[in-house]
Formats: sequence, structure tokens, C-alpha cells
Amino acid sequence: MTRHLISSADLGRADVEAILETAGSMHDLQRREVKKVPTLRGRTVINFFFEDSTRTRSSFEIAGKWMSADTINLSGKGSSTSKGESLRDTAMTVDAMAVDALVMRHPASGAAHQVAQWVRCSVINAGDGTHEHPTQALLDAYTLRSRLGDLDGKHVAIVGDLTHSRVFRSNVITLKKLGARVTVVAPPTLMPSGIGAWSAADDFATSWELDPVLAGEHEHGPVDAVMMLRVQRERMSGGYFPTAREYTVGYGLTRDRLETLVARNPEVLVLHPGPMNRGLEIAPEAADSPQSVVLDQVSAGVAVRMAVLYHLLAGDDGAPSGPPSPATLAGATTTNEGAVR
Ligand code: ASP
Repeated sequence: MTRHLISSADLGRADVEAILETAGSMHDLQRREVKKVPTLRGRTVINFFFEDSTRTRSSFEIAGKWMSADTINLSGKGSSTSKGESLRDTAMTVDAMAVDALVMRHPASGAAHQVAQWVRCSVINAGDGTHEHPTQALLDAYTLRSRLGDLDGKHVAIVGDLTHSRVFRSNVITLKKLGARVTVVAPPTLMPSGIGAWSAADDFATSWELDPVLAGEHEHGPVDAVMMLRVQRERMSGGYFPTAREYTVGYGLTRDRLETLVARNPEVLVLHPGPMNRGLEIAPEAADSPQSVVLDQVSAGVAVRMAVLYHLLAGDDGAPSGPPSPATLAGATTTNEGAVR
């Protein structure tokens, strides 16, 4: 497995399978009363977030803490970057403290890749601009697999603001790796340039219209899951659609659309990476429906990030090849014996 996790493309199918399998063990641990295990005792993880975050930052922090790593949170505003220090100097300063991993979110696409060239520690990309968010894709795959089983041949539609979405980019890579069929849907103004060449090379479908995809009338047939993406207004400089109402009419998962979907496939899943714009890209009736796995995604986020930290940091060479044994998790299997309190 790689030393850094910058892009979903860094992981082969076997790596993804290994991380998801480990995440399963971590999820079992998460359901226990005492969750702490000594697996990463003595390791230090810095969460450096230059952009706001609720889910990703807290789940990385919880993941590190439950594995007994020392976790430290830094944000762009409270650090010396607000005094004008360069990203390189900041990254090298943190690295000089002999930390083991830097979990980083940054508004610039490519920032995590750049930092990985400067430091000795592992770098985990927790979202870089509009580029990638590999742990989000892993937690989405985990959530889908726990409901749908093997993803080979399953059809996932990813809908919304594709231009600004790092979640979509990482998801396409990971889902394709696991054998899923993928259709991406966006209005022409939010369809990334160059998607034609990418979709041809990686064999996924694109559509400017949502209803035919949800009706199963598009290239890949009936959908097993619909992933709604947030309209990222903070990254929009111009008008990408006339009004919020028009966006919802064309591309929102409204109550009516959900009812039609469920009538066709009662088992259909609804995902959203959060934070949701309720009433814009997803109606409350869809977000809170029995089909919604939005909170399962959040829960999986902790287990998957534990698994990623484990695979990057645990073991003698920092690269264990399989899921942790019960001994490695020291009591994480059936009892709380050996757990660190
Ligand atoms: N939380 C996800 C991200 O950081 C999705 C979003 O913000 O819309 O990319």
C-alpha cells in the first residue's frame, strides 16, 4: 500500500478491498461500549484543515483517538499561515516535530500532493479543492457494500454539482475499481470540461437529464443507488443556474422523484456526503426517508478512517498487508479486555 493517500487512484482494487475489510473490524469496535484500542499508541496524527469541516475532521480525530494515536487539530485560521507563512514552511514545521501523519484539507486542488513532496510523514488528503476526497469515496463504497453486497455490476447515479465536487471525482475512480456501473448527471453548466474523454476512458455514462436516469431509461438501466451532491455555492463565482427553484425542478431529489424511484425499486439507496442543502438538491422527505443512508455514511466515516490510518501507520513497515488480527487490535474482537481506558 502507498505511504500517502492523495488520490483514489493511489489504491488498487486489492488495497480498497483490504481497507474495506479492515473497516468492517473497526465498525465492530465502534459498536462496543469501550472503543479504545492501543493499535496506534505512540503515533501522532495532525489534522490540518484550511477549510471548514464537520464530518471529516471530527471523524479523523475520533479515528485517531480510538486507536490511541495522539491527535492534534490545527486550522488555517488559528495557525501561522494567517501570518503569511507559506504552505511549504508550515508543512515542514509540522513535519519537523516528527509526526507520523498529516491529514490535510485545503482549498487548492493539488495541495496535498504538493505537501507530500516536502515532508517525511504520511499525508492523507481529506479534500483538496475540487480535486479529490479519497476517504469519502471509501466510506461511500463501504456504505454501499454493506447494503448491496458486492458492487460488481451495481448501478450508481451521481447527481449534481460535478464541476466543484471532489467527492464525485474520487467516487468514480473507486466505484469503477470495484466493478460498479456509474452514471453522472449534471446540468451542462455544472458538467466538468473534459468529462467526455474521461468517461470514455474509464467507461462511465454522463447525462444532462436526471429523470431518464432515475427511470432506468439511460445507458446503464435501473439504478441501485443515487448519490446527491451539494451545490457548492462557496466555489461558484458566476451564475451556474438561473434560480434555486429551477435547479431543484431539474436536478433535485424531490419527494415526487423519490416516490417514483421507490415504486420502481423499493431497495434503492439515497446517499449524500453532507452537508446537505435541504430543499435544494435533496428534499427533506428524501433525506429522512428509509432509503436514505446519509447517517450510515457518517458512521462508516469513522471506521474507514481508522482503517486508513491503520494501513498507513500500523505495523513494523507501516504497511500491513491485510486486516488487523484480533491480537493486533488487542481485545477488539469480542470483549473489552485489553482495551485502553
Ligand atoms: N463534505 C464534502 C467535501 O468536503 C462534500 C461537500 O462539502 O459538499 O467535499
